[in-house]
Amino acid sequence: MSARIVILGGGFAGVAVAQRLEKKLRPDEAQIAVVSRENFTLFTPMLPEVSSGSIETRHVVTPVRAQLRRSTFVLGEITRIDLDAREIEARHPITGDATTLGYDQLVLGLGSVNATFGIPGVMEHTLPLKTIEDAETLRNRIIAALEQAVVTEPGAERDRLLTFVVVGGGYTGCEAAGELVDLFRSVVPFYHPLVLADVRMILIEAGKMLLADLPPRMGQYTTGNLQRRHVELVLGDGVKQIDADGLTLASGTAIPCATAIWSAGVRPSPVLKDLPGVVHARNGGIVVRRDMSVIGRPGVWAIGDCAWIPNVADADQADRGAWYPATAQHAIREGPVLADNIVATLRGRPTKPFVYTSLGTMASLGGRRGVAAFPGGFVLTGFLAWFLWRTYYLARLPGLDRRLRVTVDWTLGLLFPRDIAEMRLYTERGGSPLPEMPAPVGAPPPP
Ligand SMILES: Cc1cc2nc3c(=O)[nH]c(=O)nc-3n(C[C@H](O)[C@H](O)[C@H](O)COP(=O)(O)OP(=O)(O)OC[C@H]3O[C@@H](n4cnc5c(N)ncnc54)[C@H](O)[C@@H]3O)c2cc1C
Repeated sequence: MSARIVILGGGFAGVAVAQRLEKKLRPDEAQIAVVSRENFTLFTPMLPEVSSGSIETRHVVTPVRAQLRRSTFVLGEITRIDLDAREIEARHPITGDATTLGYDQLVLGLGSVNATFGIPGVMEHTLPLKTIEDAETLRNRIIAALEQAVVTEPGAERDRLLTFVVVGGGYTGCEAAGELVDLFRSVVPFYHPLVLADVRMILIEAGKMLLADLPPRMGQYTTGNLQRRHVELVLGDGVKQIDADGLTLASGTAIPCATAIWSAGVRPSPVLKDLPGVVHARNGGIVVRRDMSVIGRPGVWAIGDCAWIPNVADADQADRGAWYPATAQHAIREGPVLADNIVATLRGRPTKPFVYTSLGTMASLGGRRGVAAFPGGFVLTGFLAWFLWRTYYLARLPGLDRRLRVTVDWTLGLLFPRDIAEMRLYTERGGSPLPEMPAPVGAPPPP
């Protein structure tokens, strides 16, 4: 009988596993199913550019089905993982209909969600930048704030509407802040009498420097670059609380703002939090062996952002913090190794550990500037780093058609300003930090 392999998550990791399994296993050897809540893989490195309107939303998502040849794809939200009964349940996101799948081999590749660190108001009053819906919501919210500011008398309320805050000085936060500066430069001229100097862009980082996990020169360059482009940096002061009026920092400083973007870190998918009989890390991630098998659960594997994969042979050292980082670069490399290990297990052969040396890290800061670090401590900054970032990520974007579409977006961006059409086709998560719009004069009372 052929083995039933079920992969949870159609992101970088899940798709990489499925693609390799399709290559390595004969059709009669296994049935492969990928289950995910969206029918596409989101290319997150370009998400800040979607939020700033320099890339069209659809161009950074690639349908999972288009990336697979013979795997079955099931669209569904995972609602139950029963490791004892060896089955999972997924519910269709629209109809709610349940599908139950039994498995012999299960891959947990459900990624991560925004970490709020229990700070009051984060869920209700900030916008995350994690999903395609987040990026679209953020762009619309920014345009809505400008629309409202332009009809508001100069004063405290208009200042609040024109204050935009990014929380988190890691690469996502720095990229988002840099991209939004580009967006404001492009669209504020449409909002006469507002001028660029009316808009405040603030980046808050609880630590003492930006890009703290990367070589110091990257953080120094990023600090200088963002400051030159009038991003106000608040370093060494974390956010204590957020409400509808704005943020309060640990130091007690209040920052009134209508739009706050939360980019302060991630934690593994909460669906995996209460899985019994597995080893959880402090943040709820699944601790796995070096071959990505889940400790204590034969036939179960974990990968990508939701897995803690030790990067040393000595498990004691791994306990002290030597884990592979949660990045797309790693998830893509982990996939084929995990797939090979499933194949080895099915064929009664030994598995292999995941061993990978990072190719480096890059961040695009907008304004045609970037930073990049390579093995051996070599750091590149400025235009060349930005160009490298664009070239590398364009090449990694799945699908030739997507690559061409993004190239066209970038080319048109050189010629035309960003679009200020506010498309309310999205569903908002959480509360709105923007006040309710007043009803037009003469409008009938609300029902
Ligand atoms: C804005 C941003 C920029 C980034 N830039 C970079 C970068 O430049 N370079 C880099 O290397 N990394 C970058 N990353 C990190 C990178 O996106 C992640 O490390 C990577 O996506 C991890 O891959 P994954 O497959 O584990 O998770 P994901 O790609 O998140 O995939 C998880 C999948 O599981 C699905 N899923 C989750 N929960 C459920 C559920 N309950 N039911 C059903 N399906 C579910 C999701 O819809 C998704 O398809 C960035 C992240 C963000 C947010």
